[in-house]
Amino acid sequence: MYDLIIIGAGPAGMSAAHEAKNAGLNYLVIEKGLIGNTIYNYPVGLTVFSTPNELEFTDGDLQPAREKPTREELLSYYVRFALDNDLNIQTEEEVLECQVRGQGGSPTFTVATTITEYHTRTVLFAIGAMDHPRRLSVPGEDLPRVHFQFRETYPWVRKRALIVGGGNSAGEAALFLAEEGADTTLAIFRSDWENNDPKQGCIKYWVKKPLEREVERNCLKLFFLGNVIEIRDSEVELETESGERVTFPSDVVFVLIGSDADLTTLTDLGVETTIGKHGTVPIYDPETYQTNVAGIYIAGHFTNERHIKGAIDAPKKIIPHIAEALAKSNSAR
Ligand SMILES: Cc1cc2nc3c(=O)[nH]c(=O)nc-3n(C[C@H](O)[C@H](O)[C@H](O)COP(=O)(O)OP(=O)(O)OC[C@H]3O[C@@H](n4cnc5c(N)ncnc54)[C@H](O)[C@@H]3O)c2cc1C
Repeated sequence: MYDLIIIGAGPAGMSAAHEAKNAGLNYLVIEKGLIGNTIYNYPVGLTVFSTPNELEFTDGDLQPAREKPTREELLSYYVRFALDNDLNIQTEEEVLECQVRGQGGSPTFTVATTITEYHTRTVLFAIGAMDHPRRLSVPGEDLPRVHFQFRETYPWVRKRALIVGGGNSAGEAALFLAEEGADTTLAIFRSDWENNDPKQGCIKYWVKKPLEREVERNCLKLFFLGNVIEIRDSEVELETESGERVTFPSDVVFVLIGSDADLTTLTDLGVETTIGKHGTVPIYDPETYQTNVAGIYIAGHFTNERHIKGAIDAPKKIIPHIAEALAKSNSAR
């Protein structure tokens, strides 16, 4: 019987593991991919937008060569953190289901994975929000040349690449592709292109400026989108803002319009959700991060805290609360 099972080894899960270890809890992290899987999936060579103080577990630990770390520097830092602290993380094992056992003051939980079943007194979901890439719901979206993630540019040099999206991920992909010699078109709503409010998930200015430069140099085409109509074998049909249909020849299409968490395991447990600024979020106590189901906690990207700093900071409140609740329940036995 574990004190705590943590689902996910991103920044939130690793911070929780570190805190749990320091608090003397018997814990386990179960990760379906690799340590820092979301960061592993960032585009190769990307420079992230946060500064080290927003990304590190301990002040001054992350020392990138420049002001902000690359994907590789950040991933290496997180992997080293897990190894140096000997965190109890099992990778390439997916949590499929979680069930409550026993009612009243001290429920316990069974966590079923692709490999086995575990028993635990509390569960922290640190599952991120990358499970379901959002889709356009248009014909042709299932074709193999349509991608919902951008990993690297070199397969697309001298190819015709169309990116659909209005946020930073779409902007970064368009920039990588345009700079490295793909024939690149960014299909974006005019309101997204003209939006400069960083709070609204627009393209960050240090991505936007070089994108504008690529447009001026004729290395990037902008298409102000009304609608995507259909993706076909070697072309895409789009609609302009005024409703005119245009067909673009294209070798590859990137649909980068955000992603959502898979909340099924939580809702099956009876955790209640609400519609927040960024989509559906579980309801939780902002101090303890406990949901309406006693013993079930959440942290990280699929809560109201969307960035790594919030993902790292939340467990510093959650774990002391769990340790105290478990100690109380032990002494009541
Ligand atoms: C390209 C890109 C650049 C970004 N740049 C920045 C930046 O500069 N600064 C910043 O603050 N944020 C940035 N973000 C957002 C940042 O990645 C997230 O805020 C951060 O990863 C959240 O950490 P987390 O631990 O909550 O979730 P994640 O890092 O997503 O970790 C969740 C983990 O849970 C695992 N998991 C999910 N379901 C299960 C399951 N059923 N069983 C087992 N494991 C499971 C996943 O595999 C994953 O490893 C960026 C995002 C992208 C896509």
